[in-house]
Amino acid sequence: MSSLAFMLPRLLGSLFRRPFTVKYPFAPAEVSPAYRGELLFDAEACVGCGICVRDCPAFALELIEIAEKQYDLIYHRGRCAFCGQCEEVCSQGAIALSTAFELASAEKKLLSAPATRRYGHSA
Ligand code: SF4
Ligand code: SF4
Repeated sequence: MSSLAFMLPRLLGSLFRRPFTVKYPFAPAEVSPAYRGELLFDAEACVGCGICVRDCPAFALELIEIAEKQYDLIYHRGRCAFCGQCEEVCSQGAIALSTAFELASAEKKLLSAPATRRYGHSA
């Protein structure tokens, strides 16, 4: 009886309250600006110093010299822990975490294969 007395006002009250759930994926999700999502790279700003590669705890970044002063910065998204360390250590502001979070794919290849996000830089 006491549990009914406890429950009933809450049940009736819920009829007039807005739902707490969100409509995603049927409506766009509201993402906090502080959310750590997929990395964005600024090819023009990058000087190929390799500090982000050295400091990445997940070995998700790789810098390959393809010609003199030209580099491919490879982002292994499947390994990334979205910790933000690379963004923090890049003195050039060439890496930024975005709020993009819809990174799932049925293609295993896309999750684990390296993705070239930047091509070359002539200093
Ligand atoms: S992204 Fe930044 S830290 Fe990484 S290689 Fe380029 S300049 Fe260096
Ligand atoms: S966010 Fe973290 S895990 Fe991902 S690439 Fe940058 S340093 Fe590595």
